[in-house]
Amino acid sequence: MDRDLIRNFSIIAHIDHGKSTLADRLLEETGTLTAREKTDQFLDKMELERERGITIKAQAVRLKYRADDGKNYILNLIDTPGHVDFTYEVSRSLTACEGAMLVVDASQGVEAQTLANVYLALDQNLEIFAVLNKIDLPSADPLRVKAEIEEIIGLDTIDAVEASAKEGIGIHDILEEIVHKVPAPKGDETAPLKALIFDSWYDAYQGVIILVRIFDGTLKKGDKIQLMANKKTYEVLKMGVFSPHPVEMASLGAGEVGFVIAGIKVVADAKVGDTITHLHRPTETPLPGFKVVKPMVFSGLYPIDTSDYDLLRDALEKLRLNDASFSFEPETSLALGFGFRCGFLGLLHMEIIQERLEREFGVDLITTAPTVIYKVTTTGGELLQVESANKLPEVQFIERIEEPFILASIHVPNEFVGAVLSLCEEKRGIQREIKYLTANRVMVVYELPLNEIVLDFYDRLKSISRGYASLDYEHLDFRESQLVRLNILINGEVVDALSLIVHRDKSQYRGRDLVTKMKEFIPRQQFEVAIQAAIGTKVIARETVKALRKDVTAKCYGGDISRKRKLLEKQKEGKKRMKQVGNVELPQEAFLAILKVK
Ligand code: GDP
Ligand code: MG
Repeated sequence: MDRDLIRNFSIIAHIDHGKSTLADRLLEETGTLTAREKTDQFLDKMELERERGITIKAQAVRLKYRADDGKNYILNLIDTPGHVDFTYEVSRSLTACEGAMLVVDASQGVEAQTLANVYLALDQNLEIFAVLNKIDLPSADPLRVKAEIEEIIGLDTIDAVEASAKEGIGIHDILEEIVHKVPAPKGDETAPLKALIFDSWYDAYQGVIILVRIFDGTLKKGDKIQLMANKKTYEVLKMGVFSPHPVEMASLGAGEVGFVIAGIKVVADAKVGDTITHLHRPTETPLPGFKVVKPMVFSGLYPIDTSDYDLLRDALEKLRLNDASFSFEPETSLALGFGFRCGFLGLLHMEIIQERLEREFGVDLITTAPTVIYKVTTTGGELLQVESANKLPEVQFIERIEEPFILASIHVPNEFVGAVLSLCEEKRGIQREIKYLTANRVMVVYELPLNEIVLDFYDRLKSISRGYASLDYEHLDFRESQLVRLNILINGEVVDALSLIVHRDKSQYRGRDLVTKMKEFIPRQQFEVAIQAAIGTKVIARETVKALRKDVTAKCYGGDISRKRKLLEKQKEGKKRMKQVGNVELPQEAFLAILKVK
């Protein structure tokens, strides 16, 4: 393969700016996708992704393009996950490229993730060129947005293509830009093998499939390889490229991108960022940047029907096969019985897994409020990692507690800055910077405790800015904080699954607000239900759910039997997401009531 004719590139964009739609257009224009396959957003494979409109897994697709200069190019489009939870994976995918196409919605302009992704691309020394998408929209203002890109990012937009993925405008020009702006890959085909794993997933028939970018050397079918991080060795059984369907090949050389199947059983053995080399002629140094990503957000998952426990465990094991960044371990709750404490990269990752468990595996779940990981030093000098309020030692045994902090960049139009600042202050933020990017766009940078973000920060941010604010964040460090455990008692009994770790200064207020919210969510029962919030043994708030007086079906006067049945069925439906705790039925909303508390 002539390396001068290869272009490895990626598309970076803020969510919803049209990355997937544009990618599909490129596949179409280069004839990579047949007419029959022109379903919307071919690259967003999984059903869930299609519904949410987000790309979770990185993909690499080889496009063949005959350019205006008459030469036949190979364009490797490397799609990156589009969410802050997956920043590390994005950075590894970008490393596999020489250039990045920056897509900006011409009606929206530069946003938090646009900038975050640009920084990631610059970190990898990628050549960046801009494309303005959605110029078909009446509200599109390409001139303003170009000025914004020049001002904020410092990128020359003189050649920026004005495109519409929807109408198919500018697609040919984009392909020419890729050929001319993205440098050809370098590398030595005869040097010892250095190949980067930039994605891997589990396939029921093939085992683990790895996406690689070869930097040096040549990889052939039948080669004995070693994964440098874990030293495990394998034999290459199959390799090739996706175009977009798999096409097997006998070898891949420096500069190329493709897939490798080597009889690996779990994705945890083929970690993103690891380097593959030859067993018998290994490279001396692996590619830089390998990192093991760790879960940051935790939540308890419990089957509503206790007989679903095995089903849930099997489902978690299956998901884990495919997702090395997700963790789970058995957990027992007095209130909820047997379940699992699961760790996720972030909130979106958590929602995705919960949804897949319910949808693909058919397990009905009760989930507990998300929490972060705390570092607790006991008076005995022991260091504990606590990711559940129940594991927090009694206050007299705690020397200190540290909580994770993040650095949040929020992009927001001028008019909402005041509201964003008060939200950040309310969430215990420490202001770092307020920067006017343009006359009307402001970047607000805060250090914030992750604990506050996993509750309702994002939703609040969206609502106070009428959807205009965008958020991007990175992890900073752990800091000592005055944290306490807030217990919730139902009819005098502590419900462990409802316990929370909150900041001392907020505990009074949160406790009061929480019991008020819970009262709304707990349906009336045959008897009175007392809801109390307590710190240690001190009760700080109380609400009562009054006893039920009448049978609901009494309203039907026994006349219309079908109506009565419908009502009963509706009640049953509502019960699905209920869990019996002691003698009280608690709905899912009650376990997540904290998310509705300021
Ligand atoms: P991604 O999140 O960046 O991958 O964005 P998508 O490709 O999923 O697009 C987000 C939304 O914008 C979808 O509803 C698309 O149909 C729409 N969209 C994408 N490109 C265009 C365009 O050029 N014009 C218009 N009007 N809508 C577009
Ligand atoms: Mg997408």
